[in-house]
Amino acid sequence: MAEVLVYVDHVDGAVRKPTLELLTLARRIGEPVAVALGNGAADTAAALAEHGAVKVLTADAPEFADYLVVPKVDALQAAYDAVSPAAMLLPSSAESKEIAARLALRIGSGIITDAVDLEAGDEGPVATQSAFAASFTTKSRVSKGTPVITVKPNSAAVEAAPAAGAVEALSVSFSEKATGTKVLSRTPRESTGRPELTEAAIVVSGGRGVNGAENFGIIEALADSLGAAVGASRAAVDAGWYPHTNQVGQTGKSVSPQLYVASGISGAIQHRAGMQTSKTIVAINKDSEAPIFDLVDYGVVGDLFAVVPQLTEEIKAR
Ligand code: FAD
Repeated sequence: MAEVLVYVDHVDGAVRKPTLELLTLARRIGEPVAVALGNGAADTAAALAEHGAVKVLTADAPEFADYLVVPKVDALQAAYDAVSPAAMLLPSSAESKEIAARLALRIGSGIITDAVDLEAGDEGPVATQSAFAASFTTKSRVSKGTPVITVKPNSAAVEAAPAAGAVEALSVSFSEKATGTKVLSRTPRESTGRPELTEAAIVVSGGRGVNGAENFGIIEALADSLGAAVGASRAAVDAGWYPHTNQVGQTGKSVSPQLYVASGISGAIQHRAGMQTSKTIVAINKDSEAPIFDLVDYGVVGDLFAVVPQLTEEIKAR
């Protein structure tokens, strides 16, 4: 069976959920071989083996420490040369998409980004994407070289599938460019304790209807009762009520959670572009004609200042 390289997103050896989802998809098209880089790379092996990795290639070097992209491209190219895989899968983060693009260029392959599903095809893996502000769902495959595919978080379930997960050291020789950039300083963002927006299983978003930064507390309270991330429409972000890092949509982040709750958001096409692939969509809006209701699984016509706190209390009571 053909091998499929899976790039491992991890923090000091703790594998992040989107990588485990990638393993589920990788098993549909071949045998997953994971590539873990940087501090704690070898510690990822147990979790990866539990979810189907037949082999885990690891490399650690000072070059990986600073979140720079080129050393990782060098390492993935080394893994590609060693394995000759049928495909290479990466999670759709900003960093991974840059790695994927550079890698595809180096190995002379095509790239598909932001896939939301993946299946085996006669002529190679077929990826499903949501295109033109989520107006279309397309299926495509790479017709040249080894497909490099990035997959949006929450596109597949995490499934246990015990495999060998044998750890092998990957030998990497770094290109000149790997050390051409230096990180001068880093300012960590204050943690909210909430899940990362693009990876969260539940997202609760507020829009112009929230009517002020001071009112976002009720959106946050609902999010916290559900263990959710907080999102915002561009109208709310442009008004300065919530940070741009939380914007959902065409010019913000693209999310695909199990549950998306939109409060005081009209459902403009540019907002839909970032959330339309959510599995279940709930909207709270006082205008029964709001376009968001064309999209929802459950809609509440009402004042969010009455509905959202009630919902929060109800969830907390359970
Ligand atoms: P509005 O459209 O003003 O809707 C507010 C809604 O709140 C209304 O439906 C109203 O009925 C409801 N409401 C008001 N008060 C209450 C209440 N008390 N209780 C319940 N409901 C209430 N937008 C994005 O979101 N993300 C993007 O990434 C993005 N990118 C864009 C890129 C481009 C190039 C352009 C041109 C636009 C982009 N936009 C984006 C903007 C987009 O077109 C809309 O303007 C924006 O999404 C509107 O945000 P909103 O739904 O919060 O506000």
